[in-house]
Amino acid sequence: MILTKSALELTNYLHLLRSSDQSVTVGFVPTMGALHQGHMTLVNKSVQENDISICSVFVNPTQFGEKSDLVNYPKPIEKDIELLMQAKNKILFLPEVDEMYPKSYEQQNFDLQNLDFKIEGKQRPGHFQGVCNVLYRFFQIIEPTRAYFGQKDFQQTVVVKRLVQLMGIDTSIDVVPIAREEHGLAMSSRNIRLSQQARKEADFLYKNLLQIKSGYKLLGLKAAISAAKQRIAQIPEAETEYLLAVDAGSLEEVENEAESEQIVLLAVVKFHGVRLLDNMYL
Ligand code: AMP
Repeated sequence: MILTKSALELTNYLHLLRSSDQSVTVGFVPTMGALHQGHMTLVNKSVQENDISICSVFVNPTQFGEKSDLVNYPKPIEKDIELLMQAKNKILFLPEVDEMYPKSYEQQNFDLQNLDFKIEGKQRPGHFQGVCNVLYRFFQIIEPTRAYFGQKDFQQTVVVKRLVQLMGIDTSIDVVPIAREEHGLAMSSRNIRLSQQARKEADFLYKNLLQIKSGYKLLGLKAAISAAKQRIAQIPEAETEYLLAVDAGSLEEVENEAESEQIVLLAVVKFHGVRLLDNMYL
């Protein structure tokens, strides 16, 4: 595997490659590192579907609201390198902050048609603009054929599709289903902050989403969601930040299943102080 910290080196390498073979396809998986099997489903797909797979590991400061979350973000780079080598990923791009945001760089404000102010955006002001700034930089440096994102961060996938459309970026966006731990907890770099016991118990979120999905036709969507919220409220150390149904395209909240053709449940529950994020199509 090639490891580079330099955007220029990466661009030059890709330029050379493309000048000798214009049909070469490049897959790109942006990550913040602390890789787990969820990330690796994206990397494996990128490796399989493209001539060259590039994975970036960059803990993007502009998408963090709380500095402590940024500082405490796990950075096990040796293990990440090992996993990427095992997966036969071709290039690891590991830029420093100055490389992504040189002194002359001005943060852009993208017109995300309000998608950035909803749901996660309400809890984390500026988060999605931060995500778009870093992705726009990556897309300019790499010009990937395909870029891979996890359904786990559902709102992010909608925002990225909007960014690509807005900026006329010639990259297809591939959304990969959520990889889960044995009992159903969505894999996340933050799960290591839970004790082993809590990690097992944290499957309640997945189970409640399943219960809404199987029960909403009988109960009605609003009542099924409200029953799930009540069940979660009974669980010690669990606190629902949000649990709602939205239209999968506009992210507008839906109270009745007839209001949208494609509905997705979005949830964040704090459990033992860890923010569990999950979602499920109805
Ligand atoms: P992150 O490092 O948290 O920014 O995640 C990098 C990419 O991996 C994002 O597109 C995530 O949505 C995706 N990802 C993270 N966890 C999972 C998971 N459990 N299943 C599928 N994709 C995931």
